[in-house]
Amino acid sequence: MAVKVVDISRETSPTVYGPAMLRANRTMIHSSGGMDSRGWLQGDSLKAGEPVSTHDLIGKDGTCYVIVKNTMVAWHAGVSLWPVMGRLVHGLNEDTIGIEIENSHTPGDLITMEQHAAAALRHRYHSMMRGYALDACVGHYEVAQPIGRRSDPLNFVWGWFWFYVYNPSSAQNKLGGL
Ligand SMILES: [Zn+2]
Repeated sequence: MAVKVVDISRETSPTVYGPAMLRANRTMIHSSGGMDSRGWLQGDSLKAGEPVSTHDLIGKDGTCYVIVKNTMVAWHAGVSLWPVMGRLVHGLNEDTIGIEIENSHTPGDLITMEQHAAAALRHRYHSMMRGYALDACVGHYEVAQPIGRRSDPLNFVWGWFWFYVYNPSSAQNKLGGL
């Protein structure tokens, strides 16, 4: 895998993530709405009253920072709803891997091709490691409740993401080869 992975999960406060994740069914893509989110996702959010975290945070250059290991529950989905086996299930943190893409949400600040490539390769990695389908990936906006509460990932081009998911060698080339 050509993604540069920096594991900083040992520095993440256990106050912002949950217990062992017993099963994982899908990946959820987010955009951060701010730059340099590491401190926020590793414990500072608790001081603001709403602890949040994620599994991966992808920087502008495609570097992936592991905030919470994919064997633990991260708190990234908020209040959400999703049909699972014909039932509507509340709260997806318990079975969803979160990938947060750093983006300021300001006009003209595009999610880079390196970020799309890295997100695709990390989604592949999580689907393989946790045993779920390669097409099992959603955007936060699709499941957040009430509908319209979240619009992220903003500036994310799903067509590029899915191209890289199914053409991983292209993603690796974008990130500088093997
Ligand atoms: Zn989100």
